[in-house]
Amino acid sequence: MRVFGRGEGGGSADGIGARSESEYEALRRRCEERLRELEATEPLKQVHLPSLLRSEGMSRRTFLKWASATTALLFLPASFEKLVARAAAVMNRVPVIWVEYQDCAGNSEAILRADGPTIDELLLDVISLEYHETLMAPSGFQAEAQLEDALQAFRGKYILIVEGSIPTEGGFGFNGPRGESFLENLKRLSRDALAVIAVGSCASYGGIPAAYPNPTKAMGVWDIVKGKPIVNIPACPMNPANLIGVVLHYVLTGTLPELDYLLRPKFAFGYRIHDNCERRAHFDAGEYVEQWGDEGARNNFCLYKMGCKGPMTFNNCSIIRYNDGTNWPIGVGRGCIGCSEPGFWDKYAYERPMAGANIPVPGLWNMGIERSVDLLGVGLLTAAGAGIAIHAFLSAKYGKKSDEGAPGAPPKEKS
Ligand code: SF4
Ligand code: SF4
Repeated sequence: MRVFGRGEGGGSADGIGARSESEYEALRRRCEERLRELEATEPLKQVHLPSLLRSEGMSRRTFLKWASATTALLFLPASFEKLVARAAAVMNRVPVIWVEYQDCAGNSEAILRADGPTIDELLLDVISLEYHETLMAPSGFQAEAQLEDALQAFRGKYILIVEGSIPTEGGFGFNGPRGESFLENLKRLSRDALAVIAVGSCASYGGIPAAYPNPTKAMGVWDIVKGKPIVNIPACPMNPANLIGVVLHYVLTGTLPELDYLLRPKFAFGYRIHDNCERRAHFDAGEYVEQWGDEGARNNFCLYKMGCKGPMTFNNCSIIRYNDGTNWPIGVGRGCIGCSEPGFWDKYAYERPMAGANIPVPGLWNMGIERSVDLLGVGLLTAAGAGIAIHAFLSAKYGKKSDEGAPGAPPKEKS
């Protein structure tokens, strides 16, 4: 499957609105054609989206607002809104198999809605979910038979969604009545998949199970699956809107969205938390929370000195937020722990700024952001380029490749 690239009319985080009229026109025609083809095929699941929305008390106006927001999320111009709305209605033409390995089921929980579902969550009911062992009623051999049927019926056409990391140390992680290891299960199911989407940080990069000392030698999907298109949608848990964005992009265009070097869709991970944070003005003004409950905390000052890793983290949660856009971690006074970055538990998830850890974080001349702020003033650090350079350096220095075979000890705090 092709990945949406520059020049094909798709957007990218570093090129919002950078497509020419003729490129968008060509893309629009391609999407029209694809939707006509999909609309002419039989749905795999009998779900009528307008009826589903009505049953949840959602008006057409609400749906159109969602279509408008999703079009913007995918970096498409407003002229695509009607196409996005049409694509949502034919999402039940795409077969999806969802497997869960070593994790806390947080991503499955993120798509379940006990109360007040969002349209993104409702659309996960529209997708033809052929197999999801955690949510489906059958179990054991019955579930296995259902899986086999789906594999046969949709060979080469299904999207495999993987939740959870994959233990590679013998003796850990088995599923199904035949006791197949997670590792073998993933290899088998990915073989005939159209594409594999890793949801959550565990499936993407190993996540918390891969944290030091990583007793199960947990890995992410991209460490194991080779020769297949892979999309990582990390975070703990992933935001359902980003999963819907990827699937919708495929339904609409027949391609996967443009990805960054960590295989994350750029439409969702092309932003730094820090650049869209409502506390950013306080960072720029040098106004920090220095201690939980202090005057700065009461005034919603910047959480950097309390360990916020927003400057090192790429994700769109500062824009789309969680729970139907209600709020997000920094909004409730808790710093970002960089949950969408590889190795976040060992590198970022502790309550100290990087400058206060014994991890050499390059701010300016390797002093770390906070020390640089103290010595040089905030002006130097407000340039977006400083953050991007830091991220690039961190990724190269502490990224996936440097983790392989050398799980680092958890960061020690300075006494
Ligand atoms: S350091 Fe954290 S709280 Fe402060 S502006 Fe950046 S993202 Fe927001
Ligand atoms: S604010 Fe940071 S830790 Fe929280 S969900 Fe977003 S990326 Fe993850």
